Amino acid sequence: MATETHEFQAETTALLNLVINSLYTNKDVFLRELISNASDALDRLRFEAITSPELLQDGHQYEIRLEVDSIKRTLTIQDSGIGMSRDEVVANIGTIAKSGTRELLQQAAKGANSEILNKLIGQFGVGFYSAFMVADKVELVTRRSGEPTATRWESDGGGTFEISETVRESNGTSITLNLKEADLESGIGDYSDTGLLESIIKRHSDFIAHPIKCEVERKEMERDEEGQIKPDGASKTVIEDRTFNAMKPIWTRPASEVTGDEYTDFYRHVAHDWMKPLKSLSLKAEGTLEYWALLFIPSQAPFDLHHGTSAFGLQLYAKQVMIMENCEDLLPPFLRFVKGVVDSADLPLNISRETLQQDRHITHIRKWLTGKIIKTLEELKRDEREQYEAFWKQFGRVLKEGVARESAQPERLHPLLLFDSSENRETMTSLAEYVERMKDDQEAIYYITGEDREVLLSSPHLEAFAARGCEVLLLTDPVDEIMVQNLTTFDEKPLRSAAKGEFDLGSGEEQKKVKEELDEKGKELSDVLEAVQKHLEEHVREVRLSNRLTNSPACLVGSEHDMSPQLERLMRGSQYQMPKQKRILELNPEHAIVVKLSDRFVKDNEDPKIEDVADMLLGFALIAEGSELHDVARFNQLLAATLDEAL
Ligand code: ADP
Repeated sequence: MATETHEFQAETTALLNLVINSLYTNKDVFLRELISNASDALDRLRFEAITSPELLQDGHQYEIRLEVDSIKRTLTIQDSGIGMSRDEVVANIGTIAKSGTRELLQQAAKGANSEILNKLIGQFGVGFYSAFMVADKVELVTRRSGEPTATRWESDGGGTFEISETVRESNGTSITLNLKEADLESGIGDYSDTGLLESIIKRHSDFIAHPIKCEVERKEMERDEEGQIKPDGASKTVIEDRTFNAMKPIWTRPASEVTGDEYTDFYRHVAHDWMKPLKSLSLKAEGTLEYWALLFIPSQAPFDLHHGTSAFGLQLYAKQVMIMENCEDLLPPFLRFVKGVVDSADLPLNISRETLQQDRHITHIRKWLTGKIIKTLEELKRDEREQYEAFWKQFGRVLKEGVARESAQPERLHPLLLFDSSENRETMTSLAEYVERMKDDQEAIYYITGEDREVLLSSPHLEAFAARGCEVLLLTDPVDEIMVQNLTTFDEKPLRSAAKGEFDLGSGEEQKKVKEELDEKGKELSDVLEAVQKHLEEHVREVRLSNRLTNSPACLVGSEHDMSPQLERLMRGSQYQMPKQKRILELNPEHAIVVKLSDRFVKDNEDPKIEDVADMLLGFALIAEGSELHDVARFNQLLAATLDEAL
C-alpha cells in the first residue's frame, strides 16, 4: 500500500487547535493521556484474550514502555495492547465520528464559552491529540492483535495526515513524538529527560495497572575488588530497566491514604474526561461477598446523555482484571452517568454479558451501589446545596426519568428532586421544602407544566393561586410530564396540576360557598355559556364559569386525567397517533368582557357578535398558556378589526 495523504475532518482540526493552544497550561498531561490510552489497549487485549487466547503471541507481556532518544529528541510510548487495524486508525485518529460535534464546535467557535468547551473536550477525548502540545510531529505505528500487517500514521498536526502499511514485530502501538524545545513559559518540559518522565508518571499515572517501564541511565562509582569506591573517583554509566508506577489498584487503597489529586487523575483515566469529578466515592463491602467500588459523579453531563447512545460508566473487574467496560448491569439506567470501577473477588474471569445479568453477585452489587449513590446524593443535597444544584442542572433530568420509569421503589428518588417554583425564584425547591411552606388548609402540592418558566409565571391558571399566596411548582422539562404521572403523592400529599380539574383552594366551607355562587351565576349566564360552547364545539368540551381567574377573562383547563397541552404536543411530535383532546374553557364571571357579553346578550338580547368574541376568548386562553392558536389568520383578523373599532 502506497502512502496516502488524508485531510483531517474540519472538526478535528478545530479541536486540535483548541487543544494545542488553549486547553492545558501544563503540557505534562499529554503523557497521562497517552498512557491512559495504552492502558486501555492492554485491558482490551486481556479481555479479548479470555475468549480468544490465540491473540496472545508466545511470551506476551502486558506492558507499556517509554523510550527516549536525547540526540534525535524523540519520546516513544509503546504498548503491547490490542492495537488498531488500518480502518480503526482512520476512524479513531483524525476523525471525530460522534454526532453533535459539528454543532458544538460551531458554538464553541462563536465564543469559546467554557461550558461548551468543557462538553466538547469531555466528549471527544482529546487524549491522543494532546501529543501535539509537546511534539511538532507525531508518528503512530500500530498492529492489531491477530492481524499480520501494521499501519503507520503520521502528522505534524497541520491539517493532513499520512497513512501507509508497515511492519511491526508484534501487536500493539508505538507513538513517537518529535519533541518541541523545552520552554518553561509555555509549560513544555524536556520530555527526553527520564527523571522528568518518572516524576510525571508518579504524579499522574501511578495507579495504572500495567507496568510502565523505561530504561534509565545511572552513573555508578567504580569500585575495586573489595567493593571500595576507587580513590580516583572514576564512575561508569549503568543502564537499569525501571518500572515507574506502583501499579497498586487505587480502589483497594483506603480512602484516607489517597489524595484528591490521585482520585482526579484516576477519574480522568476511567471517564475519559478532563475535568475534575464533582464527587468521588470509595466503597468496600466485606462479608460473604467481597468487593470494592470506586465511583465518581462527573461535574458535567456528556452531551449525548439523553440521546440513547450514552454508555454506562462502570468498568467491572474480577480480581483486579478488567472483564467488562461500560457495564450495564451494575447500575439502573437513571445512574448511567456514574463513572468508575467495581472489582469483585468472587466473579469468574470468563463471565459473559448474558450470564452476568443473572449472576446473583451482580444483582447484589447493583442494589448496594444504587443505595450508596442515592445516599451520597442526599447528603450532598443536605450539606452542599450549591454543589447539589450544580449537579441537578447537569443530571436532574436523568433522575426524573428514573422517577418516571423505575419500577423498583421510585419513591427513593423523590427526596432528590428539585423544582422551580412560583414563590422561590432564586433557588430551587425540594418537595419537602414545599410541604414545609404549605398553608394550613392546603391539601395538595400544586404544579403546572409548560415549555417556558416566564410563560407559566404569567399563566391565568396561577392567578388565584397567586392571589392566595399558594406556591406552585413550575415544570418546564418535557420529562416532567411523564414524571408526574408516576409521582402522584409525596409525604401523603397528592400532587395536583393547577391547570386541571376544579379549583379547590381554601377551606371546605369557603369552597362550598364559592361553588354555590358560581352555580348561581352559571344559571344567570347559561345562555352565554351555551352560545359560546355551541360555536366552539369543535375545540372545547365544555364552557363553564371559573373561580381560578382574577385578572384574565378566560383559560383552558383539563380534567383530572387529561393530558396537558404540553404532553399532547410532545406525543403528537412522536410517532403516536392520537385524537385531539378537547378541554374546558373557563370564563371569569367578574371580568368586564364576560360581564358586558352577558349584559348585552342576555339582558338586551342584542347581537354582540358572540362568535367573534368566543373565538377571541379561546385565542386568548391558548396564547396565555403558551399553546398555538387553532386559526392564526382568523384571530389576527378579529384582533385588527377590534383595534380598528377601538381607535
Ligand atoms: P479517547 O481515548 O478519549 O477515546 P483518544 O483520541 O485518545 O480518545 O483516542 C481515540 C481512540 O483511539 C481510542 O478510543 C482508541 O480506540 C484508539 N486508541 C488510541 N490510542 C490507542 C492505543 N495506544 N492502542 C489502541 N487504540 C488506541
